[in-house]
Amino acid sequence: MRLDIVSIFPEYFAPLDVSLIGKARERGTLDVHVHQLRDWAHDVHKTVDDTPYGGGPGMVMKPEVWGEAIDTVIAAGPQGPDGGLPRMIVPTPSGRPFSQELAQELAGEPWLLFACGRYEGIDSRVMAEYSSRLRVDEVSIGDYVLAGGEVAVLVMVEAVGRLLPGVLGNAQSAVDDSFAPGSMQNLVEGPVYTKPPVWRGHEVPAVLLSGHHGNVARWRRDEAIRRTVRNRPELAAAIDPATLDKHDRKLLEELSFRLQPEDMAN
Ligand code: SAM
Repeated sequence: MRLDIVSIFPEYFAPLDVSLIGKARERGTLDVHVHQLRDWAHDVHKTVDDTPYGGGPGMVMKPEVWGEAIDTVIAAGPQGPDGGLPRMIVPTPSGRPFSQELAQELAGEPWLLFACGRYEGIDSRVMAEYSSRLRVDEVSIGDYVLAGGEVAVLVMVEAVGRLLPGVLGNAQSAVDDSFAPGSMQNLVEGPVYTKPPVWRGHEVPAVLLSGHHGNVARWRRDEAIRRTVRNRPELAAAIDPATLDKHDRKLLEELSFRLQPEDMAN
C-alpha cells in the first residue's frame, strides 16, 4: 500500500519508522511518502493560511497551496494502467467517525492520500474540487478537538497498517480484537493475563489454566459481553441479535441488559 501524507509538520511522522509500521515499511508492505505543504507556498514567508471569510477567530488553510500540493502528489504517484488514483482522507472533528470497519475498508485500498489540516482547517473548496476526481472522506477520530490532523493520521495509519497482510506476527490477533467483524462485532475484548499464575495475591482465572478450549472460548466471550455492557452500553445495544446464542442472552438478562422484546423472543 502506498501512503502520501501532506502536513506542515512532517517531523510528526517519525513514529512511522518504529515497531510494526516501521517493519512493514522496511519490508515494502507500506510505502510511505511524507510531504511538507510549505514546499508549495510561493511567498517569502511560505504562508499556508489566511483570515476566514465571514470573520471569526483563527485562520483557514489556503486552497491554492493545497491544490498544488495534491496535484503534484497525484502526478508523482504510481500512474499507469494499474496505478489509479488515491483515496483522499481529510482528518477533521466534523468528519464521519473512524472505526475498525473503516480501517478494514481502507486496508483494501492500494493508495491513500492524507491531508493534515491545522488552524481552523482547510478551505472547503479543496474537498469539493477533489471530490469530482477522487474518493474523498472527511474523517474524525473522536469527539474532541486536536491542534492538527497529524496525530489523527498517525492513529489511522497504525489502525490500517496492522491489518495489512503479514504485518501482525499472528494474523489471528486481528480476528479476536475488539470490534473485529464477525463474532466480535459490537463487542470489546475482555481482560487478558500472562504468567505468573499469581501476582501480588491476584490469581489468573482458573478456567484459563484448564486447557479446555471450549470453556476458555466461552469465558472470553462472557467477559467481552460483560465489559461491553459496563463500558460501552451503546455498542451492546447495537449488537445484532442474530449473533447471540442462548448463553449470551441469558448472560445479558443476568446483567439486566435488555434487548428489544422481539429480539429476546427469537
Ligand atoms: N475548527 C475546527 C472544528 O471545530 O471542527 C477544528 C480545527 S482543529 C483546531 C485543526 C485540525 O486538527 C483539523 O483541521 C483537523 O485536521 C485536526 N483535528 C482536530 N480534531 C480532530 C479529530 N477529532 N479528528 C480528526 N482530526 C482532527
